[in-house]
Amino acid sequence: MTDYRPISYWLETANDDLTPRAPLDGSTDADVAILGAGLTGLWTAYYLRRADPTLRIVVVERDIAGFGASGRNGAWCAPDLNISISRLARLHGDDAARRMQQATYDAVDEVGRATAAEGIDAGFHKGGEIIVARGPQGVPSLQDSLEEYRRFGFGARYRIVGGDELAPRIRIAGTVKALVSDDAAVVHPGRLTRGLARLLERDGVRIVEGTPVTKIRLKDRTGKAALVTPMGDVRAPVIVLAGEAYLSQLEQFHRQLVPLWSLIVLTEPISEEAWAEIGWQGREVVASTRLSIDYLSRTEDGRILFGGRGAPYRFGSPIRLEYDLHAPTHERLRGFVREWFPSLRGVQFTHAWGGPLGMPRDWHPTMAFDPATGLATSRGYIGHGVSTTNLGGRVLTDLILGRKTPLTELPLVNHRSPNWEPEPLRWLGVRYAQWAMGRLDDKISRTGKPPSGKSLAERIASH
Ligand SMILES: Cc1cc2nc3c(=O)[nH]c(=O)nc-3n(C[C@H](O)[C@H](O)[C@H](O)COP(=O)(O)OP(=O)(O)OC[C@H]3O[C@@H](n4cnc5c(N)ncnc54)[C@H](O)[C@@H]3O)c2cc1C
Repeated sequence: MTDYRPISYWLETANDDLTPRAPLDGSTDADVAILGAGLTGLWTAYYLRRADPTLRIVVVERDIAGFGASGRNGAWCAPDLNISISRLARLHGDDAARRMQQATYDAVDEVGRATAAEGIDAGFHKGGEIIVARGPQGVPSLQDSLEEYRRFGFGARYRIVGGDELAPRIRIAGTVKALVSDDAAVVHPGRLTRGLARLLERDGVRIVEGTPVTKIRLKDRTGKAALVTPMGDVRAPVIVLAGEAYLSQLEQFHRQLVPLWSLIVLTEPISEEAWAEIGWQGREVVASTRLSIDYLSRTEDGRILFGGRGAPYRFGSPIRLEYDLHAPTHERLRGFVREWFPSLRGVQFTHAWGGPLGMPRDWHPTMAFDPATGLATSRGYIGHGVSTTNLGGRVLTDLILGRKTPLTELPLVNHRSPNWEPEPLRWLGVRYAQWAMGRLDDKISRTGKPPSGKSLAERIASH
């Protein structure tokens, strides 16, 4: 690619020169070699260098910093994981689940603290989070969420408000109740990722772009593992795999993650009169209780971002640029904007983009380091990586430096997700789940009845 601006509105408005940095120019040695200049790779480099400024770190990026999900996302920097607190508790115990949830609140604040301390203009604004039930059928899900937070000691951070009480803050058609909290922020993903890359470079981290890693060599008798590229190898005792969905394109990790697309539409800047009707002055992040996922944010320049899933999984897990645009899904998202905010019926949409999420087989993120092979990784965030990548960077730093800290005791640490099934079973399973969730959402809004909690689609969604 020569022009990266069309990848997303965030890269287009990152106030940065997107010309790729120089590629690798022959084999080299480092203390830590990182695959991927997204937020995982960059935060890991950041915390490693802060802990030990003498470390020689090379980040190897196939395209440019922020090319992946980190430069394309919905701007939610929220204390959410894709895995529920209850499921974490079932797998790892109540205490571990509680510590994990607390770490997600801390991660949001750490993104705000670190970017402010380093002078990165990341647009961090902690306006809170609003989950709306658009119709009575969504209310049980809000109550279940609140109940879960209460059970684990976080109830004071959340409350359910009625549509009337919400209205002075934001007016969304059909909203009967909402779960609100103060704990989430929005960011400018382009300025965050590109700003972090610039900072690291100034600090002496080497970032090579336009350099595809084709293979990972595990630690051999020389004590070095390597990122293998057509331009040479980067050899280091520690290799960090920070490629998220794209790791599925490497043969060695092909069945560890499935790439699933999340898509976004963006409106033109909305007039002051329309904002007066909608409210939303706090720039909270907003979503609804729909199983098949929607997420909204309000940009600094007064646009509405509406994201959602729905683009179909492709047989064999390929990743191609053309999959970022899926006309039926983008059109549905535009329809949702008009439905949620009827005063915007005539609004223009200026941008549409998308990107692959990395989905592990058990929906469980992993932050891991194996000193025997030299491989470290933080991955499997699905749709919740903006704050979690920061946590991943700190966890990997402690693991790589051999420190035993509260972070290295978190339940995501050294988790191993099972492999996805080989094709065609993978295609059948993922496509079925996508279809079933969409169908159930349609049924819920058609009948106005809350879901039973027992269908296969819901069991998949609540994973
Ligand atoms: C459309 C969309 C919306 C989202 N919305 C949100 C949201 O609002 N909030 C939230 O918390 N999360 C969201 N997410 C998820 C979040 O953005 C990701 O979890 C997070 O950015 C992952 O960061 P990462 O650094 O691990 O991976 P990425 O940002 O994907 O970075 C991986 C990097 O590795 C590079 N790479 C991959 N393979 C190779 C190779 N072989 N050689 C060299 N380089 C390679 C890629 O080019 C890429 O730059 C969204 C994701 C998408 C796609």
